[in-house]
Amino acid sequence: MASVTFEKAQRWFPGADVPAVPGIDLEIADGEFMVLVGPSGCGKSTTLRMLAGLEEVNSGKIFIGDREVTNIPPKDRDIAMVFQNYALYPHMSVAENMAFSLKMAKVPEEERRRRVEDAAKILGLTEFLDRKPKALSGGQRQRVAMGRAIVRSPQVFCMDEPLSNLDAKMRVHTRTDIAKLQADLGVTTVYVTHDQVEAMTMGDRVAVMKLGELQQVDTPLRLYDKPANLFVAGFIGSPQMNLMEATAVDGQAKVGEYLVPVDPTASKKMQGKITVGVRPENWRLVSANEGGLPVKVTVVEELGADSYVYGTSDVAGVPSTVIVRVSGRDTVHKGETVYVTTDPEHVHVFDTETGERLSD
Ligand code: ATP
Repeated sequence: MASVTFEKAQRWFPGADVPAVPGIDLEIADGEFMVLVGPSGCGKSTTLRMLAGLEEVNSGKIFIGDREVTNIPPKDRDIAMVFQNYALYPHMSVAENMAFSLKMAKVPEEERRRRVEDAAKILGLTEFLDRKPKALSGGQRQRVAMGRAIVRSPQVFCMDEPLSNLDAKMRVHTRTDIAKLQADLGVTTVYVTHDQVEAMTMGDRVAVMKLGELQQVDTPLRLYDKPANLFVAGFIGSPQMNLMEATAVDGQAKVGEYLVPVDPTASKKMQGKITVGVRPENWRLVSANEGGLPVKVTVVEELGADSYVYGTSDVAGVPSTVIVRVSGRDTVHKGETVYVTTDPEHVHVFDTETGERLSD
């Protein structure tokens, strides 16, 4: 096992106007589960592929432990990849598929069998070892792909959207399996996904990327509670954080007629156009005369314990969507106007132009 370090690692594809990854600096601790997440095209696969040696590094360095691997061929890096398209060999049994790379590496047969049996036990695949891939479910095939990686006892697992071929239910199931497996094996893992829920539920830390640049690298809770900029605030969380244009006047933030409570740090820093963010669960219903934000309700989604109230609020004449989570026992109806407010510790203030976080 080992740490992984990217030092200003750059990938510039031939003929492209800008680099896909201009220069990434990232340190991943020994045994850590690091998730790279971001929208399509943000450079997360390219970053992972540079680590795996599948993509050239144009400048900068990559280390696995103390060893620089920047120019080392993939097979000598001591990593194992698990891809979205796990492409098992159809004519080989599960055991043969899992043992294949060991055979190529000329590992003796007895040792191969032992490693495959151990991995099969961990993955619950023992009874399927003699089957061909076509006689397995999608989830079982995915576990065989994991098995192929595990038998090699690599220093690092590199996983690129390994769950995207599974249906929604199987994905939820398998993501828990992978997270548990990784914790048990303690192998440093870099995992790429575009799904923020997957990122939040699996990662020890999550690296959020946009246009090849890291936006924030943090624990899932820190990302949720203290997003470093507007992009992270909007990307992490479902339903999304309510982000509203506001005006800063004398240390106070106004959304239309609503005076948003902000913390002293934000109050000192903010000027002119700002954006305030409030998560749906941080609103509280108040009565009409308490100076809350008026929200005209368009849809109420009742989930049992909670309900999500979707509505619009006129901000300087422009209707903007507001989402409020209320208790499932609160009675809110489509068509009515409710009033909501919140507390300073739940208000995220950002500079609209730079996107930078201004609140604590
Ligand atoms: P996705 O989730 O869609 O796979 P991603 O975040 O993994 O996206 P990358 O695949 O790393 O993004 O791509 C980053 C950028 O590099 C994109 O603009 C993409 O078009 C470009 N790119 C990727 N591979 C190549 C290539 N082989 N040649 C030229 N440009 C490429």
